[in-house]
Amino acid sequence: MFVDSHCHLNFPELRDRIDAIRADMAAAQVDRALVICTTLEEFAEVHALALRFDNFWASAGVHPDNEGIEEPTLERLLALARLPRVVAIGETGLDYFRLNGRSLDDMAWQRERFRTHIRAARETGLPLVIHTRSASADTLSILREEQGGAADGGPGGVFHCFTETADVARAALDMGFLISFSGILTFRNAEDLREVARFVPLDRCLIETDSPYLAPVPYRGKTNSPAYVPHVAAQVAAVKGLDVQTVAEATSRNFERLFKLPQPETAT
Ligand SMILES: [Zn+2]
Ligand SMILES: [Zn+2]
Repeated sequence: MFVDSHCHLNFPELRDRIDAIRADMAAAQVDRALVICTTLEEFAEVHALALRFDNFWASAGVHPDNEGIEEPTLERLLALARLPRVVAIGETGLDYFRLNGRSLDDMAWQRERFRTHIRAARETGLPLVIHTRSASADTLSILREEQGGAADGGPGGVFHCFTETADVARAALDMGFLISFSGILTFRNAEDLREVARFVPLDRCLIETDSPYLAPVPYRGKTNSPAYVPHVAAQVAAVKGLDVQTVAEATSRNFERLFKLPQPETAT
């Protein structure tokens, strides 16, 4: 019924508990998950999860926060993107939150890495999983320059774990991107974000956990898992005045459409 569109099941908090996590997912009616890659070094482990379980898929990409790791070339991303069960490029984008004393000029490497991912997505047609934090203007302008948005004939994709303003959401929607909401939407101080969720059309919404981080209320502060994504769906439903079933179905169909996956047969 539910899909977690963004999780990190290979991270140390989760990797040794996959069987228990899968049992929890089944109990919570979370049928599918997209496991997100953040370094080339971890790609094999992310990919192995998608090869082993037919309701997991993988992305290929390098997170903007990661330094001191192998820098992705276009050729490398293209090679990974062509592997079976790889359905997205990312997570990629810009993160100026922790500059550690550096100027924005010093972050040119991050913008270059982002451009490389957009080019890989354009070439393969795989959608982008975009991470943006304290960097929305540059994120949007680079996406425009590189024609990453579906409205520009690009691959499109999703702005994941959305925490930006309504204006940024509108710009992303105009470019043809989807918006994904995480457990942050359930936090008490997230009223502004709930306003954003109210106006993003349901057929452009995804839900995610970003686990092991950002567990939704009532698990806030604990280790997150895909089994908790129904709490995000419930919050989307609450702000839109819909029932959870409607949100679950719509976000599942959006997930299939964006990542070009078949709609599962209804077994029950
Ligand atoms: Zn992220
Ligand atoms: Zn992530």
